Amino acid sequence: MPQMPNLIHLAIPGFLLLVLAEAIADAVMRRELYQLKDTAASLTMGTGNVIIGLAAKAMVFGIFTFLHKFAIFHIGYQWWAWLLVFFADDFSYYWFHRTSHECRLFWASHVVHHSSQRYNLGTALRQTWTGTLMSWVFWLWMPLVGFPPLMILTMQSISLLYQFWIHTELVRRMGPLETVMNTPSHHRVHHGSNQEYLDRNHAGILIIWDRMFGTFEPEQEKVVYGLTKNINSYNPFRIAFHEWIDIWRDVRQAPTWRLKLRYVFGRPGWKHQNEATLSTSSAR
Ligand SMILES: [Zn+2]
Ligand SMILES: [Zn+2]
Repeated sequence: MPQMPNLIHLAIPGFLLLVLAEAIADAVMRRELYQLKDTAASLTMGTGNVIIGLAAKAMVFGIFTFLHKFAIFHIGYQWWAWLLVFFADDFSYYWFHRTSHECRLFWASHVVHHSSQRYNLGTALRQTWTGTLMSWVFWLWMPLVGFPPLMILTMQSISLLYQFWIHTELVRRMGPLETVMNTPSHHRVHHGSNQEYLDRNHAGILIIWDRMFGTFEPEQEKVVYGLTKNINSYNPFRIAFHEWIDIWRDVRQAPTWRLKLRYVFGRPGWKHQNEATLSTSSAR
């Protein structure tokens, strides 16, 4: 088994330097993309994510290693295996991310990443504290097929690294790359709270999955960033746990078990008192 460095840890100085560079460019151009409190909150969330990730990734590695014992095929570290794992990971990421927007249990973790009303490289680092404990279920099929656990975790890190640079307003369009790649333009749409931008562009690296599964939306009108109901807080604990607290409140108030379950597994923003307005998932 080859040793793989933790790519995210190695990239942290690069992340911070690029955030600083973009913030300086922003100050020179007077675009007001950055706000100190907002960026501080994003960096705090990112730090918490890395610390919790140490334990979470060890747990996930253990689960994948166990499942890998039952693998159907025995895939090694050949070049074609890296090509396959790239597509397999990106496909899994799409469904994980889409579910994170369509199922409240996962949204409770993912809402963190969407809670800033700014869109800059700092926002990329605004990461969940709870999601890493659950997201792995979307990758379970990969060790069972036969991909080595370390290869899967490395590919996940590469995907996360790729997704850092697309959190910027400073790159507008990228020509023909927009057809296949997830780009700043496509991901700006993903962070939009505009009605037509809700639950669109869930891609990791390739935008092809959104095009295939009907969730693609091009950037047209100006994006309004954040949630449809913003939390207006820079408190990292509030950012990390507010939706979990809301789920608990809703579950307690729901009169029947069916409704309680729907508050956990249903769409974010759904309320049993107004089933008629079901179509608007008001949380994003
Ligand atoms: Zn998202
Ligand atoms: Zn993002």
